[in-house]
Amino acid sequence: MRIIQIPLLRDNYGYLIVCEKTNRAAVVDPSEAEPVLRRVEKEKVALTAILNTHHHRDHTGGNPGLLEQGPLQVYGHVADMGRIPGLTHPLNDGDEVRVGQLVGKVLFIPGHTRGHVAYLFENQLFCGDTLFTAGCGRLFEGTAEQMHESLSRLMKLPADTLVYCGHEYTEKNLQFALTIEPGNRKVSERLQKVRGLRAQGLATVPSTMAEERETNPFLRWESREIQENLRRAHPTMDCNPVSVFAKVRELKDRF
Ligand code: ZN
Ligand code: FE
Repeated sequence: MRIIQIPLLRDNYGYLIVCEKTNRAAVVDPSEAEPVLRRVEKEKVALTAILNTHHHRDHTGGNPGLLEQGPLQVYGHVADMGRIPGLTHPLNDGDEVRVGQLVGKVLFIPGHTRGHVAYLFENQLFCGDTLFTAGCGRLFEGTAEQMHESLSRLMKLPADTLVYCGHEYTEKNLQFALTIEPGNRKVSERLQKVRGLRAQGLATVPSTMAEERETNPFLRWESREIQENLRRAHPTMDCNPVSVFAKVRELKDRF
């Protein structure tokens, strides 16, 4: 398996998942068609499928342009029927998707939208706008409970799972992380590393699940430091995992 990261629009990432045995490829979240088609041509692979994580335009905008070149299987959650252009294969949690001889597993992870899925190919997770590197998506169509549940599921994946998310937001996310957990040295170290990469115009995605567990404030509802900081501002607050997550999400919306 080979993963090719394609920068799209301002800060989106699309990905080609290539089966090296058959030379077939699927594209995850094509925000736009042209750069994807150029890359498919350059890599000399046969594009057979689109894997959409959710219906937002910056993740599906390229569907119509890709479909103009010929028929493709288009995957997305069943709740996004009528919202994902050209959807042919509506998905449910636990379904499998095939790219050549590769098999990916579908995880239903609502919260950002009500039809959000992730695709897991071996240890490579394509999680759209649910889990970001050092962040998470906004709650547009879901509740804090749902998002907490979805993130909890992703967190349980093995530490070496590679996190391929939908946007290059790591630097901003870590700046926020430092405001609520300034004593977490792993956060400041990661921010240094990420600034270095960005200064050279390099991607900070993918990360690993191990890094996310240590530094992503949206997965750190057990952190004493975060809980104490929240309680300082909201003395009556109940520090259960969902409330901590919800409060951190609220603070990030205003950051
Ligand atoms: Zn989105
Ligand atoms: Fe997005």
